[in-house]
Amino acid sequence: MTKIQAMPAVGKASLDAAVRPRPLAGVFSIDPYVPGKSSAPGVAKVYKLSSNETPLGPSPLAIEAFRSAADHLDAYPDGTAGVLRAAIGKRFGLDPARIVCGNGSDELLHLLASAYIGPGDEGIFTEHGFLVYKIAILAAGGVPVVAKETRLTANVDAILGKVTSRTKVVFFANPNNPTGTYLPVAEVERLADSLPRDVLLVIDAAYAEYATQTDYATGQDLVSSRENVVVTRTFSKIHGLASVRLGWCYAPADVCDALNRIRPPFNTSGAAIQTGAASLQDEAHIERAIAHNDRWREWLAREIGALGIETTPSAGNFLLLHFADPARAADADRFLTSRGLILRAVGAYGLPHCLRLTVGAEEANRLVVEGLRDFVSQGNAIG
Ligand SMILES: *Cc1c(COP(=O)(O)O)cnc(C)c1O
Repeated sequence: MTKIQAMPAVGKASLDAAVRPRPLAGVFSIDPYVPGKSSAPGVAKVYKLSSNETPLGPSPLAIEAFRSAADHLDAYPDGTAGVLRAAIGKRFGLDPARIVCGNGSDELLHLLASAYIGPGDEGIFTEHGFLVYKIAILAAGGVPVVAKETRLTANVDAILGKVTSRTKVVFFANPNNPTGTYLPVAEVERLADSLPRDVLLVIDAAYAEYATQTDYATGQDLVSSRENVVVTRTFSKIHGLASVRLGWCYAPADVCDALNRIRPPFNTSGAAIQTGAASLQDEAHIERAIAHNDRWREWLAREIGALGIETTPSAGNFLLLHFADPARAADADRFLTSRGLILRAVGAYGLPHCLRLTVGAEEANRLVVEGLRDFVSQGNAIG
C-alpha cells in the first residue's frame, strides 16, 4: 500500500505562484481551432463562403422539427438518440446498434481519440488533413504524426510508412478538407487491409454526399467487415444543420461500446435528435443540394481556371484556389473581403498560398468570379 502523504498547508502551497493544476503534456501545444471568418467590416452584404455551409439551407422539415422541439425543452433527451439512430439505420441500411451520435462529428473525433489514444501513443493524419485530428490527438495526450500527401492527396503508402508499435489511430478525411481531394474506394480498402488490426482507421466522410465520383464510397462497407474501421458523418454540411451540432459514426460493436461508456450521457440535444431525423426524410432536398453543387463546382473551377488561377479538382462543396505565393493569396483575400466575399485562409493547413472557396448560391458564385477577374486584372495593371 502506498503511504498517503500529508497535504501541505493550504496557505503555504498557494504562496508559490508556479504551482498550479497542469493539463496533459500536449494541451498547451494545441493551436486553438480558428473557424472561418464570418464578417467583413464596413460591408453591408456579406457572402460567407468560408465554412463549407450549404447555400440551400436546411430542409423545411428539419426547421419544423426544430421548432416543435421548443415545446419540450424541459425534458432530458433520449441519451441513446434512438429515434435518430433508427432513421439513420433505415436511410443507409445500417444496424442502429452500431451507430453513435455526437454533438457534431467533431465530438466523435475527440471521443475516438480519448478512448484509443493515451499519453505517448501516436495518431496519424495526413499533411493537409482536417485540423481537428491534431487537436484531438494532443488533447488525449498523444503524439501527432503527419503522413506526406502526394499532389495534395492522401497517400496510402505514406500513411502505412508512419505506422509504429505506438500507433493507435489513423484519421483520414475522404474527401479531405481543405484540399477537396479523395481516395477511390479501392485505395481506402487497401489502407484498411494493410493497417495492423489493432490500429483504428477513422474515415471522416463529412462531405460524402458531395463526392459524386463513381469510384468514391463512404467506407461503410469496410466497417461491416472489420473490427478496426469507423466512418464518421455529419449533419453540418449537406443537411445544412451546422448550428444544431449533430454528427454520427458507424463503428464496430466494440468501438460503439467504448464510445458509449465515455461520451457525455446527453451529448446530442433533443432538438438535434428530432431535427436530424426529420432532415433524413427529405431526400429531395439532398438531391437538390447535390445537383446545385455539381453544377456550380464545375462552373467555378472552369471560370476561375480561365482567369489563370489554378483550382484543385474537388469532391467536396468547396474549391482550393492556388495563388503565386502567400502574399498574393492574402491580397486576394483582402480584395474579396472588401466586396463582402469571405473565403477561408488555409495557412494553418500548410497552404498559405491558397484560399478555400465554398460553393455558394448562384449570386455569390458569380460575384466571386467577377471579384477575382477584377483582382487579376488589377494585379496585371500594377505589374
Ligand atoms: C466540417 C467538417 C466536419 C464536421 O464537423 P461537425 O462537428 O460535424 O460540424 C468533420 N470533418 C471535416 C473534415 C469537416 O470539414
